[in-house]
Amino acid sequence: MDPAPAEPFAEEEYPQGAYGGARPSPPDLLAPPDAAFDGRGEMAPPRAAEPAAQELEILAAVQSQAGFMEDLLVALIDAPTLLGNEGPGQDLMRYTFGGLGLQPVDVPMDADALRAHPGSAPFDWDVRGKSNVVATWQPAEPRDGRSLILNGHVDVVSPEPLAGWTKPPFMAVRDEDWIYGRGAADMKCGLAAIAGAVRGLRALGVRPRAPIHLESVVEEECSGNGTLSCVMAGFTADAGIVAEPFGAAITVSQVGVLWFHVVCRGVPVHAAEERRGINAIEKSFEVMQALRGLEAELNLAPPPPYERFSHPINLNVGAIKGGDWASTVPGECVTSYRIALYPGMKVRDLQDRIEAVVAEAAVEDRAIFENPPEVRYSGFTSEGYDIPDDHPMVQTLAGAFARQSGQPPALVATTGTTDAGILARFGDTPSVCFGPYAEQAHAADERVWFPSVVQTAQVMALFIRDWCGLSS
Ligand SMILES: [Zn+2]
Repeated sequence: MDPAPAEPFAEEEYPQGAYGGARPSPPDLLAPPDAAFDGRGEMAPPRAAEPAAQELEILAAVQSQAGFMEDLLVALIDAPTLLGNEGPGQDLMRYTFGGLGLQPVDVPMDADALRAHPGSAPFDWDVRGKSNVVATWQPAEPRDGRSLILNGHVDVVSPEPLAGWTKPPFMAVRDEDWIYGRGAADMKCGLAAIAGAVRGLRALGVRPRAPIHLESVVEEECSGNGTLSCVMAGFTADAGIVAEPFGAAITVSQVGVLWFHVVCRGVPVHAAEERRGINAIEKSFEVMQALRGLEAELNLAPPPPYERFSHPINLNVGAIKGGDWASTVPGECVTSYRIALYPGMKVRDLQDRIEAVVAEAAVEDRAIFENPPEVRYSGFTSEGYDIPDDHPMVQTLAGAFARQSGQPPALVATTGTTDAGILARFGDTPSVCFGPYAEQAHAADERVWFPSVVQTAQVMALFIRDWCGLSS
């Protein structure tokens, strides 16, 4: 998108989001509610002056946290929280939650416990010493509200290749209303909004009528095991918001994601006798072609709501490692893939199809057949997830959005996966993504439109009032 949007959350200005465009809105957008929800999933009578005044107070209190949110976002971007180095970001979140007057607790990543949990993704990296950070805003009497999880991930993906960036990835730069840096979009902006919403409400002296858990998690970008660890530690709620940067939209459906790695083996010989060898790198391309065939099949008849996308299932060849010398025929090549799966599809079934396709590619090629490729799994094994449009939490959040912005949000499906699925499927916590407007996630010059961070926090604060209830 070229210029900054003139109006906050103007729908035409937001044809795409941080996840790169595959975000059609349903034709039947929610109509803006003409009355506030009363916090119990039913429409309240038309608002009286008093609640309206409280809403305005909330909006102003959160708006006044803009500087705090910007400082936090900048400090988070400056911490290069790549996989294995999330510590400095978590230190900052621990400090931030403490500064809100809450008591942060660490939820460590326990490799054995994770591997024993049916919902965990396999991993071949070291998780020792890594922690999620959770702070609970304890409720006041009467405790008759509904509980809430506000979740964000602190981990970011690599900014490589750096040559594509015009701004430094790990030194936040503000250019008018945009803040640039790795994680500005995905999703340190969301963590800033969560903290800003709670700080604004606390400044008013109010308290929720049910617990609110603030979560800063690790490993959203590779496994979902961070949020799963929080679920395993007992953090569940009546609703969850994952503050991923979807802009003026609430996600009601997401695909699952599977990571897999294909090991092709060849026969290494001196390049002078190249014809005697078998080149593992070249063989891996034949497997790749076969897998593109599977991807095409999966895109043939997408189930709703994915029939609205031209290409909902994306296979990505994300990394390739093969060979080590220009004059040696490479004996091994490992290719790492990411593929999506529709809600309702089982990971095991997709794995079976992948293994069959790889085996078939091997049968068709004698050289591969003699050295059959192997499929390994490490990283995401997430299944898809959806939540009904008319679920009370979706409707309550949509109502809060409409009152903040004057227009309804889009309810969207996404062709990526998020921790909302982990919260819902394993924590029995109905969840959606809702967060700031941002661009270039996982790409160069990643950026967030800062006013939308404040707006997200305002909507979250109104949602807290409607969903959890507030006591003064
Ligand atoms: Zn994310």
